[in-house]
Parts: sequence; C-alpha cells; structure tokens
Amino acid sequence: MDSSFKSYWQDTIKTRNFAPLQENTRTNTVVIGGGIVGITTAYLLSTQGVDTIILEGGNISTSATAKTTAKITFQHGAIYNDLMTRVGKEKAFQYLDTNRNAITHLNKIITEHKIACDYKTQPAYLYATNNKEVEIIEKEKEAYDNLGVASFYQEKSILPFPVKASLAVTNQGQFHPLKYVYSLADIIEKKGCTIHENTRVLDIQGSKSPFKVITEKGEITCENVVVACHYPFFNDGKHGMYFFRMYQDRSYVLGIRTSSEPFDGMYININNPIYSLRYQFDDKGALLLLGGGNHRTAEKEDEKASYKELELFSHKYFTNPEINYTWSNQDCMTLDGIPYIGQMSSNIKGLYIATGFKKWGMTSGILSAKIISDLIITGESLNTDVFNPARFSVVDSAKNFIVNGLEIAENFIMKLMPISLENLSEVKVGEGKLIDYKNSKIGVYRDEDGNYFAVVPHCTHLGCLLKFNTAEKTWDCTCHGSRFNIFGDVIEGPATLPLKRIELQ
Ligand SMILES: Cc1cc2nc3c(=O)[nH]c(=O)nc-3n(C[C@H](O)[C@H](O)[C@H](O)COP(=O)(O)OP(=O)(O)OC[C@H]3O[C@@H](n4cnc5c(N)ncnc54)[C@H](O)[C@@H]3O)c2cc1C
Repeated sequence: MDSSFKSYWQDTIKTRNFAPLQENTRTNTVVIGGGIVGITTAYLLSTQGVDTIILEGGNISTSATAKTTAKITFQHGAIYNDLMTRVGKEKAFQYLDTNRNAITHLNKIITEHKIACDYKTQPAYLYATNNKEVEIIEKEKEAYDNLGVASFYQEKSILPFPVKASLAVTNQGQFHPLKYVYSLADIIEKKGCTIHENTRVLDIQGSKSPFKVITEKGEITCENVVVACHYPFFNDGKHGMYFFRMYQDRSYVLGIRTSSEPFDGMYININNPIYSLRYQFDDKGALLLLGGGNHRTAEKEDEKASYKELELFSHKYFTNPEINYTWSNQDCMTLDGIPYIGQMSSNIKGLYIATGFKKWGMTSGILSAKIISDLIITGESLNTDVFNPARFSVVDSAKNFIVNGLEIAENFIMKLMPISLENLSEVKVGEGKLIDYKNSKIGVYRDEDGNYFAVVPHCTHLGCLLKFNTAEKTWDCTCHGSRFNIFGDVIEGPATLPLKRIELQ
C-alpha cells in the first residue's frame, strides 16, 4: 500500500510552478485560492477581459481538488426529496438546474479549448443495500419525477455485491481534475491573468471597494475579491461568521488495480458506511477509485481505521485487489447542506465567497465560478437564491454552532486527555499525543529516530484544541478543520498562521 497520500491525480500530472507575489500591485479582481473554484472563476473573468490575479497559499490544486474522486454529477446523494421538503420545489429546482448547467458549462470549456482531461460521459447511480435505503431511493425517484429529471429505477445491478435497488441519471461525467486545472491555468495566463503561488492571504482590509488584500509577500489593491480558499480564514465578526456555520468532514480514497472486470458508471450509496465507486481508465488499464470512511475532521480516534475499512471491502468484493494509492481530504459542510455562493457578507459589496460543497464541489465549483463571475461582470446572477450565503441569521447559526460546540467539547474531554511529561515515553514512534507540561497542554510527536517535536496544540484560527491524525501525522483542529504538520506549519486553513513550537527541556 502506498503511504505517501499522493492522489492518483497528483501522481499523473506534470505540474509547473508560479512565482510568489513580489511587490504591491493593483488589479480589478483578486481570487484567493487555486482549486477548481479559483481557477474556473479566474478563467470566466479573464475571458471577459476582467484583470484578475490568483493568490494561492501553497501550490495550485494540492488541496481538495487534488484529492477528489472527480465525479461530475448533480446527483449529490439522495438530496432532492429532502430539499423539496425543506426549501420547497422552486429552490430544489434551482439547485438541480444550476448543477445540471454546470456539467454543460464544464463540457463547453473542455470542448472549446480541447482540454485533454480524460472526460468521460457516465451515468451516476445512487444504490441501496437495505430496505430502508430502498424507501429513500423510491422517494428520491418521486422527487426526480416532480422536478422533471429523467431517471431509471432498477432492482438489478452490475456491482459485485448485493444491491437492492438503484436510481440512475444519465449524461453525467468524470474527469482528471488536475489535467483540467493545469490546462486552464495555461489558458488564463495567456489571457493576462497572473497566478502567484506560495502567497498566503492573511487579511482583506476595507468594507467596500477598493479592498486591500494583505499577503505575506505584499498587498494588492482591487475592486473585487473572490474568497475561493475552501474554508474562509476570517475570524472576525465582519465577514459573515462562517466559522459559526461550517465544519469539515474527511473522506478516504483507495486507488486499486484488480483482476475483477471493470464496470461503467459512478456509484454511491446512501447511509454510512459510505462506499463510492468509479473507475479511472489509463494506459495501465482500469483503476478502481473506492471512497468512504467519512467522519468529521478530528472526530475519529484512529484515522487509519477508515483506510482499513475500505481495504477490507475491496478484499471482500474484488479479485486480487492491489492498492496503488491511498489518500484522504476534507470538505466543508454547511448547516443546511447547501453551499454558500455569492456575496460573502450582505453589507460588503465586491467581496464574494464559494464554499460548503459537502464533497460535491466539481459541479458546485463550476457553478460557483459562473455565479460569481456573473455578479462581478453584470451585477446579477439569475435563479441562484438557494445558494445565497445570507440565508441564515447569525443568531440561527450561533445556536447551531453551540450544539456543534458542545459535541466538540465532549470530544475534547473524552478523547484528548493529556498525559504528563514524565510519561513522554508513552508517545510511541510515529505517534502524536497531548502532554501535560508546565501546567498546560502541549502536542508532542515522536519521529522514527526518537526525536520529539512539540507544539502548542491550539489552532491559530480560533484557539480550538488540536487532535493528532494517526494516518497523515498532522495536528487537526476539532472545530473548523485547520491542519498543521508536526513542525506546526499550516497545511490547510482556515488557519493562516503556524503553531508555536516548543523546545522541550
Ligand atoms: C475524498 C473526497 C472526494 C470527493 N469527491 C468528489 C466527487 O466525486 N465529486 C465532486 O463533485 N466533489 C467531490 N469532492 C469535493 C471536491 O473535491 C471539493 O468540493 C472541491 O475540490 C473544492 O474545491 P475548492 O476550489 O473550493 O477548494 P480547494 O481545491 O481546496 O482549493 C482551495 C485553495 O485555496 C488555497 N488557500 C487556502 N487558504 C488560503 C489563503 N489564506 N491564501 C491563499 N490561498 C489559500 C488552498 O491552498 C487551496 O489550494 C470530494 C472531496 C473529497 C475530500
């Protein structure tokens, strides 16, 4: 088993580097983040002649977009019956239609620029393995009919394990997300858009245009800012308080070569444990992408168990599975399961956000780019109220957050009990633990050579306690999902600043 956690996409892409920002400058729009949302937004803006600069804290597309399973579908689990009940038919239709249009839009970009990104039209299937799930699928089928979506209910399945029923929609797709992103990066550079890597944004100043985007390497003055950095990094009260309204949830993927016959289609079941399946085809044949093992970030005692669960599944249902890739990542989850796309805060014009994709950011990312570029260019975006980030009051969000917060607080106590410094030897090689040290807690990791690395285990975003991730050897935030390496450097936001390191005496 590969333990590098490099995804198949990262392993099969020729990357290139973009220089960091070197000096203060001006532009029309700054896009923060070089994932699918940032790059596609910059594409739509620069093709319409809008001066745009992308600021990427690390390297483009090394975050969620590099770790996806890249299914392109509006079938985001069994959501439409639920949406019809909760937000009504009109908004459920908006959700469906914008995601459906995103597939068309993506195809248009790929075709127009002849982007070789392994795009393959595929049906998407929601499958049920027990009677309770069959009922959910039947209701989902009614919702599809009601919304005018052609779909196929089947009791037979080609999956190599028992399935009671499935619901298929056609003309969905799959692709190689990094081939798409890097090709688009080449295209937008030619249109005058500049990309700066290793330029982390620390703050945005101003409550109306022009804004000042403050980075580690300089400042940019601009008319519009698009916050496409996955989880927004603001921790103040002015910018929509997203830290009250979102948490992050991890999923795991195995890339498997097997001698079982590959099958067409993209599959996902309904309830936990989730098993998501689809094949990626390359010159070595078919690689099965098996996803699942989901849990809220920092909530699983032993993250390695998620990989194990998928591995067992592959051995049970596939012949001679050989695991070539293992990777995981997290995505942002909103209070109502609908992304936040549009003006970031109702009283700040010119500042936009796209986040909360609930692991469906391929289509949601494309539609975010369309909505936000329309807002910047024309001042409006039609039929997209369902995504309006202002749909919650801060009070509602805070109430919900407190519920979440209590859960987390319980976790702090149950799972994160520190040990005292005299018991340092209890920290095994390759393991991280919380330790009592001079009347406070510190996080200690022990490497293969027996060296200890200690950090202050509180997130630099809002101070929540960190938990050691046993699989990836990172310190993960129990509240909002920021992640730090064993030296305390930020590897995933919303945090922007490193952890304080401690020299153990
Ligand atoms: C295991 C897994 C499987 C998935 N499978 C699917 C799927 O099959 N289909 C689907 O539709 N979706 C899927 N998703 C979801 C999808 O991958 C994400 O929703 C999507 O990639 C998010 O894109 P993004 O551009 O918002 O974020 P990212 O790709 O994370 O890009 C954000 C960028 O912002 C940068 N950044 C962060 N903070 C700063 C800062 N302060 N300054 C500058 N830059 C910053 C980061 O370095 C990063 O490069 C999956 C997700 C996971 C975790």
